[in-house]
Amino acid sequence: MVDLPEALLLAEQMNKEISGKTVVNATLKEYSHKTLFINLSPEEFEQQIKNKKNLSTFAKGKWIFSRFESEKIWAIAPEMGADLLYHKDETTIPDKYHLIFEFDDDTFLTLKYSGFLLMRFATQKELDETRYPGKIGPTPLDPEFTFDKFVTMLDQSNRMIKSTLLDHGQVPGLSNFYLNDAFFKSKIHPKKKANTLKEEEKKALFNSIKNTLQEATELKGRKERKDLYGIAGEYSRIIDSKDKGEPCPNCGTLIEKLSVAGSNNFICSNCQKLE
Ligand SMILES: [Zn+2]
Repeated sequence: MVDLPEALLLAEQMNKEISGKTVVNATLKEYSHKTLFINLSPEEFEQQIKNKKNLSTFAKGKWIFSRFESEKIWAIAPEMGADLLYHKDETTIPDKYHLIFEFDDDTFLTLKYSGFLLMRFATQKELDETRYPGKIGPTPLDPEFTFDKFVTMLDQSNRMIKSTLLDHGQVPGLSNFYLNDAFFKSKIHPKKKANTLKEEEKKALFNSIKNTLQEATELKGRKERKDLYGIAGEYSRIIDSKDKGEPCPNCGTLIEKLSVAGSNNFICSNCQKLE
Protein backbone atom coordinates (compact mmCIF):
# COMPACT_ATOMS: atom_id res chain seq x y z
CA MET A 1 0.00 0.00 0.00
CA VAL A 2 0.93 3.60 -0.45
CA ASP A 3 0.48 5.94 2.50
CA LEU A 4 1.82 9.43 3.08
CA PRO A 5 5.55 8.50 3.40
CA GLU A 6 5.56 6.53 0.14
CA ALA A 7 3.46 9.14 -1.72
CA LEU A 8 5.78 11.97 -0.58
CA LEU A 9 8.86 10.07 -1.74
CA LEU A 10 7.42 9.19 -5.16
CA ALA A 11 6.26 12.78 -5.69
CA GLU A 12 9.68 14.18 -4.77
CA GLN A 13 11.42 11.79 -7.16
CA MET A 14 8.93 12.49 -9.97
CA ASN A 15 9.51 16.19 -9.50
CA LYS A 16 13.21 15.61 -10.00
CA GLU A 17 12.91 13.29 -12.99
CA ILE A 18 9.96 14.41 -15.12
CA SER A 19 9.39 18.15 -14.46
CA GLY A 20 9.89 20.12 -17.64
CA LYS A 21 9.57 17.05 -19.87
CA THR A 22 6.86 16.63 -22.48
CA VAL A 23 4.87 13.41 -22.84
CA VAL A 24 5.26 12.36 -26.48
CA ASN A 25 3.35 9.09 -26.04
CA ALA A 26 1.00 7.75 -23.40
CA THR A 27 -0.40 4.22 -23.54
CA LEU A 28 -2.76 2.41 -21.21
CA LYS A 29 -2.82 -1.35 -21.72
CA GLU A 30 -3.91 -4.65 -20.18
CA TYR A 31 -6.04 -2.96 -17.55
CA SER A 32 -9.55 -3.94 -16.57
CA HIS A 33 -12.50 -1.58 -16.24
CA LYS A 34 -13.24 -3.40 -12.99
CA THR A 35 -9.92 -2.39 -11.41
CA LEU A 36 -8.94 0.88 -13.07
CA PHE A 37 -11.18 3.78 -12.08
CA ILE A 38 -10.60 6.77 -14.33
CA ASN A 39 -12.75 9.81 -15.07
CA LEU A 40 -12.11 9.73 -18.84
CA SER A 41 -12.04 6.94 -21.36
CA PRO A 42 -8.49 5.53 -21.71
CA GLU A 43 -8.37 6.93 -25.27
CA GLU A 44 -9.34 10.42 -24.08
CA PHE A 45 -6.71 10.26 -21.37
CA GLU A 46 -3.99 9.26 -23.84
CA GLN A 47 -5.02 12.03 -26.22
CA GLN A 48 -5.32 14.75 -23.59
CA ILE A 49 -1.96 14.13 -21.92
CA LYS A 50 -0.02 13.70 -25.17
CA ASN A 51 2.27 16.60 -26.10
CA LYS A 52 1.74 18.25 -22.71
CA LYS A 53 4.67 19.40 -20.63
CA ASN A 54 4.89 18.27 -17.02
CA LEU A 55 5.24 21.14 -14.57
CA SER A 56 5.54 19.68 -11.08
CA THR A 57 4.45 16.85 -8.79
CA PHE A 58 3.30 16.86 -5.18
CA ALA A 59 1.62 14.47 -2.75
CA LYS A 60 -1.28 14.98 -0.40
CA GLY A 61 -2.56 12.14 1.74
CA LYS A 62 -2.26 8.93 -0.27
CA TRP A 63 -2.59 10.77 -3.59
CA ILE A 64 0.10 11.84 -6.03
CA PHE A 65 -0.70 14.90 -8.17
CA SER A 66 1.31 15.75 -11.27
CA ARG A 67 0.54 19.05 -12.97
CA PHE A 68 0.65 19.47 -16.75
CA GLU A 69 0.72 22.70 -18.72
CA SER A 70 -2.90 22.27 -19.84
CA GLU A 71 -3.88 23.13 -16.23
CA LYS A 72 -4.88 19.53 -15.82
CA ILE A 73 -3.50 17.32 -13.11
CA TRP A 74 -2.73 13.63 -13.41
CA ALA A 75 -3.88 12.29 -10.04
CA ILE A 76 -3.31 8.74 -8.87
CA ALA A 77 -3.93 6.84 -5.66
CA PRO A 78 -2.12 3.51 -5.84
CA GLU A 79 -3.68 2.50 -2.52
CA MET A 80 -3.43 -1.22 -2.99
CA GLY A 81 0.12 -0.92 -4.27
CA ALA A 82 1.65 -0.07 -7.60
CA ASP A 83 5.09 -0.03 -9.12
CA LEU A 84 5.67 3.44 -10.44
CA LEU A 85 9.08 3.36 -12.10
CA TYR A 86 11.32 5.79 -13.93
CA HIS A 87 13.50 4.55 -16.78
CA LYS A 88 16.52 6.43 -18.14
CA ASP A 89 16.20 4.39 -21.30
CA GLU A 90 14.08 1.54 -22.63
CA THR A 91 16.35 -1.25 -21.36
CA THR A 92 14.75 -1.28 -17.89
CA ILE A 93 11.11 -1.18 -19.02
CA PRO A 94 9.39 -4.22 -17.43
CA ASP A 95 7.49 -6.79 -19.50
CA LYS A 96 4.21 -6.07 -17.75
CA TYR A 97 2.75 -2.68 -16.96
CA HIS A 98 -0.58 -0.87 -17.31
CA LEU A 99 0.57 2.61 -18.27
CA ILE A 100 3.64 4.01 -19.98
CA PHE A 101 4.64 7.61 -20.64
CA GLU A 102 7.39 8.29 -23.14
CA PHE A 103 9.03 11.69 -22.71
CA ASP A 104 10.70 13.98 -25.23
CA ASP A 105 14.21 13.06 -23.99
CA ASP A 106 13.66 9.30 -24.55
CA THR A 107 13.07 8.55 -20.86
CA PHE A 108 10.00 6.66 -19.61
CA LEU A 109 7.65 6.26 -16.67
CA THR A 110 5.76 2.99 -16.21
CA LEU A 111 2.99 2.11 -13.79
CA LYS A 112 1.85 -1.38 -12.88
CA TYR A 113 -0.84 -1.57 -10.24
CA SER A 114 -2.12 -4.39 -8.09
CA GLY A 115 -5.63 -4.58 -6.66
CA PHE A 116 -7.15 -1.45 -8.10
CA LEU A 117 -6.10 2.04 -9.10
CA LEU A 118 -7.91 5.34 -8.84
CA MET A 119 -6.77 7.74 -11.53
CA ARG A 120 -7.98 11.17 -12.68
CA PHE A 121 -6.96 13.71 -15.29
CA ALA A 122 -8.75 16.91 -14.39
CA THR A 123 -8.35 20.48 -13.16
CA GLN A 124 -7.75 21.20 -9.47
CA LYS A 125 -11.30 22.52 -9.18
CA GLU A 126 -12.75 19.34 -10.69
CA LEU A 127 -10.63 17.18 -8.39
CA ASP A 128 -11.78 19.14 -5.33
CA GLU A 129 -15.40 18.62 -6.30
CA THR A 130 -15.29 14.84 -6.77
CA ARG A 131 -15.61 12.35 -3.92
CA TYR A 132 -12.16 10.92 -4.71
CA PRO A 133 -9.82 12.64 -4.14
CA GLY A 134 -12.04 15.55 -3.05
CA LYS A 135 -10.54 18.40 -1.07
CA ILE A 136 -7.85 16.77 1.05
CA GLY A 137 -7.33 18.30 4.48
CA PRO A 138 -4.08 18.62 6.45
CA THR A 139 -2.01 15.45 6.84
CA PRO A 140 -0.26 14.65 10.14
CA LEU A 141 2.96 16.11 8.74
CA ASP A 142 1.36 19.47 7.91
CA PRO A 143 1.52 22.28 10.52
CA GLU A 144 -2.27 22.75 10.16
CA PHE A 145 -2.79 19.30 11.67
CA THR A 146 -3.01 20.59 15.25
CA PHE A 147 -3.56 18.88 18.58
CA ASP A 148 -6.71 20.96 19.14
CA LYS A 149 -8.29 19.70 15.91
CA PHE A 150 -7.23 16.14 16.74
CA VAL A 151 -8.90 16.39 20.16
CA THR A 152 -12.11 17.75 18.63
CA MET A 153 -12.20 14.82 16.18
CA LEU A 154 -11.79 12.32 19.02
CA ASP A 155 -14.24 13.99 21.39
CA GLN A 156 -16.97 14.00 18.74
CA SER A 157 -16.77 10.24 18.19
CA ASN A 158 -18.12 7.44 20.36
CA ARG A 159 -16.79 4.86 17.92
CA MET A 160 -13.59 2.87 18.26
CA ILE A 161 -10.47 5.03 18.01
CA LYS A 162 -9.23 3.00 15.03
CA SER A 163 -12.45 3.51 13.02
CA THR A 164 -12.51 7.19 13.94
CA LEU A 165 -8.97 7.79 12.67
CA LEU A 166 -9.32 5.72 9.50
CA ASP A 167 -12.65 7.18 8.40
CA HIS A 168 -12.37 8.56 4.85
CA GLY A 169 -10.60 11.89 4.92
CA GLN A 170 -10.26 12.22 8.70
CA VAL A 171 -6.49 11.76 8.77
CA PRO A 172 -5.23 11.93 5.17
CA GLY A 173 -2.28 9.68 4.41
CA LEU A 174 -2.68 7.41 7.44
CA SER A 175 -3.67 3.74 7.19
CA ASN A 176 -3.70 0.80 9.57
CA PHE A 177 -0.14 -0.08 8.58
CA TYR A 178 1.45 2.88 10.35
CA LEU A 179 -1.37 3.33 12.83
CA ASN A 180 -0.61 -0.09 14.38
CA ASP A 181 2.85 1.16 15.40
CA ALA A 182 1.40 4.48 16.60
CA PHE A 183 -1.06 2.56 18.83
CA PHE A 184 1.75 0.41 20.23
CA LYS A 185 4.06 3.35 20.92
CA SER A 186 1.31 5.36 22.64
CA LYS A 187 -0.05 2.25 24.48
CA ILE A 188 -3.56 2.70 23.08
CA HIS A 189 -5.86 -0.23 22.39
CA PRO A 190 -7.37 0.14 18.88
CA LYS A 191 -10.86 -0.77 20.17
CA LYS A 192 -10.95 1.95 22.80
CA LYS A 193 -13.78 4.44 22.27
CA ALA A 194 -12.38 7.68 20.85
CA ASN A 195 -14.18 9.98 23.28
CA THR A 196 -12.99 8.03 26.35
CA LEU A 197 -9.27 8.71 25.84
CA LYS A 198 -7.65 10.69 28.63
CA GLU A 199 -5.79 13.91 27.86
CA GLU A 200 -2.36 12.29 28.16
CA GLU A 201 -3.47 9.39 25.95
CA LYS A 202 -4.62 11.80 23.25
CA LYS A 203 -1.31 13.64 23.44
CA ALA A 204 0.66 10.38 23.24
CA LEU A 205 -1.36 9.13 20.27
CA PHE A 206 -1.15 12.47 18.43
CA ASN A 207 2.65 12.53 18.85
CA SER A 208 3.02 8.85 17.91
CA ILE A 209 1.08 9.28 14.66
CA LYS A 210 3.24 12.25 13.66
CA ASN A 211 6.50 10.61 14.75
CA THR A 212 5.73 7.32 13.03
CA LEU A 213 4.92 8.99 9.70
CA GLN A 214 7.91 11.32 10.03
CA GLU A 215 10.29 8.44 10.73
CA ALA A 216 8.86 6.39 7.84
CA THR A 217 9.26 9.39 5.52
CA GLU A 218 12.91 9.80 6.54
CA LEU A 219 13.44 6.07 5.96
CA LYS A 220 11.92 6.36 2.46
CA GLY A 221 8.79 4.36 3.30
CA ARG A 222 8.19 0.77 4.27
CA LYS A 223 10.52 -2.02 3.26
CA GLU A 224 7.74 -3.76 1.29
CA ARG A 225 7.46 -0.82 -1.16
CA LYS A 226 9.76 0.41 -3.88
CA ASP A 227 10.54 3.96 -4.93
CA LEU A 228 10.66 5.45 -8.44
CA TYR A 229 14.03 3.73 -9.04
CA GLY A 230 12.90 0.31 -7.78
CA ILE A 231 14.71 0.66 -4.43
CA ALA A 232 12.88 -0.61 -1.32
CA GLY A 233 12.18 1.61 1.70
CA GLU A 234 13.77 0.97 5.10
CA TYR A 235 10.90 1.27 7.56
CA SER A 236 10.09 -1.96 9.45
CA ARG A 237 7.12 -2.05 11.79
CA ILE A 238 7.81 -2.40 15.52
CA ILE A 239 5.23 -5.19 15.76
CA ASP A 240 3.42 -6.93 12.93
CA SER A 241 2.25 -10.38 11.80
CA LYS A 242 5.66 -11.99 12.33
CA ASP A 243 5.47 -11.05 16.04
CA LYS A 244 2.19 -12.84 16.79
CA GLY A 245 2.84 -15.12 19.78
CA GLU A 246 6.25 -13.51 20.37
CA PRO A 247 7.07 -11.54 23.53
CA CYS A 248 6.32 -7.80 23.61
CA PRO A 249 9.60 -5.83 23.38
CA ASN A 250 8.50 -3.77 26.42
CA CYS A 251 7.02 -6.26 28.87
CA GLY A 252 7.33 -9.80 27.51
CA THR A 253 3.57 -10.46 27.22
CA LEU A 254 2.80 -12.41 24.05
CA ILE A 255 1.67 -10.28 21.09
CA GLU A 256 -1.90 -10.97 19.95
CA LYS A 257 -3.58 -10.63 16.60
CA LEU A 258 -6.95 -8.86 16.66
CA SER A 259 -9.40 -8.20 13.88
CA VAL A 260 -10.61 -4.62 14.33
CA ALA A 261 -12.87 -2.67 11.96
CA GLY A 262 -12.06 -4.78 8.93
CA SER A 263 -8.31 -5.25 9.29
CA ASN A 264 -5.81 -6.91 11.62
CA ASN A 265 -3.97 -5.32 14.48
CA PHE A 266 -1.08 -6.71 16.49
CA ILE A 267 -1.13 -5.61 20.10
CA CYS A 268 0.25 -6.26 23.56
CA SER A 269 -2.78 -6.59 25.83
CA ASN A 270 -0.67 -5.64 28.84
CA CYS A 271 0.81 -2.42 27.38
CA GLN A 272 -2.37 -1.53 25.45
CA LYS A 273 -5.19 -2.02 27.90
CA LEU A 274 -8.80 -1.74 26.73
CA GLU A 275 -10.12 -0.54 30.10
ZN1 LIG B 1 3.79 -5.12 26.40
